[in-house]
Amino acid sequence: MKYKRILLKLSGEALMGEQQYGIDSNRLIQYAQEIKEVAALGVEVAVVIGGGNIFRGVQAEQVGLDRVQGDYMGMLATVINSMALQSALEKLGVYTRLLSGLNIQQVCEPYIRRRAVRHLEKGRVVIFGAGTGNPYFTTDSAASLRAIEIEADVVLKGTRVDGIYSADPEKNPDAIFYRNISFKDVFEKGLNVMDMTAFTLCKENGLSIIVFDMNTQGNLKRLVQGEEIGTLVSM
Ligand code: UDP
Repeated sequence: MKYKRILLKLSGEALMGEQQYGIDSNRLIQYAQEIKEVAALGVEVAVVIGGGNIFRGVQAEQVGLDRVQGDYMGMLATVINSMALQSALEKLGVYTRLLSGLNIQQVCEPYIRRRAVRHLEKGRVVIFGAGTGNPYFTTDSAASLRAIEIEADVVLKGTRVDGIYSADPEKNPDAIFYRNISFKDVFEKGLNVMDMTAFTLCKENGLSIIVFDMNTQGNLKRLVQGEEIGTLVSM
C-alpha cells in the first residue's frame, strides 16, 4: 500500500449528487462503499466532510444572520453529513467513530487526538465532524489540521474534477493538466486547490495533497495502491 494512513476530504456539495440540496442516498452509499474497500486493504482512513450541501457561513449574511452564527450552523451541517456517512458505513459492516470539534455528546465523541489515533490503529474509520470547531474556517482547513495532528501520510481531496488544471477546462480547451505540482507553483500560478489557510497548513508541514475525481468508481482504491491518479501537490 502506498499510504498507510489517509485523510479523505469530501465536500458537502458532492453529497448532493444531482440534487440541489441535501443528501443523495446513492452518492452516500457509493462513497461508503469506496471507503469500505480502502479500509479493507488495511489502510487507516480518516474522513472530513463539508457542509455546503446544507449550509455555509457566508450564506448567513445574505439572509441577515450573524456570520459567526452562520459558521456554527455550517459546522452543524457537517455533523449531519458525518452522521449520514457513519450510518452508511455501518450498514456495510464498517466500524466507525464520529469525533466532533463541537461537543454534541449524544451523537459524537469529542475530538481528542490520542483517541482518534487509537481508533485508527484499531482499524476503525474515523470521521471528524464540525470542522475545526471554530468559526471563520473551512472544512478544507479542518482536513489539513486533523491530517497533520494524526500524522496522516496524505490529504486526498475528492472532487468532481480529475485534478488541477492551469485554467477551468470546461471554459478553456487549452487548459493544461498537472500530474505533479509543487506548493510554490500552485501559489505562484494562483491555482485553486484549497483555501489559503488550508493550503498553507499543508505547505508548512510538508503534507502532500492529492486532488482527484471521487466520483469515478475505484479511484480511491487505485490511489492508495499507488496508481497515479489526479494531481499530487507536494514540496
Ligand atoms: N465551518 C466553520 N469552521 C470550520 C469548518 C466549517 O465555521 O472549521 C463552517 C463554515 O461556515 C463553512 C461551513 O461550515 O462554510 C461548511 O463547510 P465548508 O464550506 O467547508 O463545506 P464544503 O464546501 O466542503 O461542502
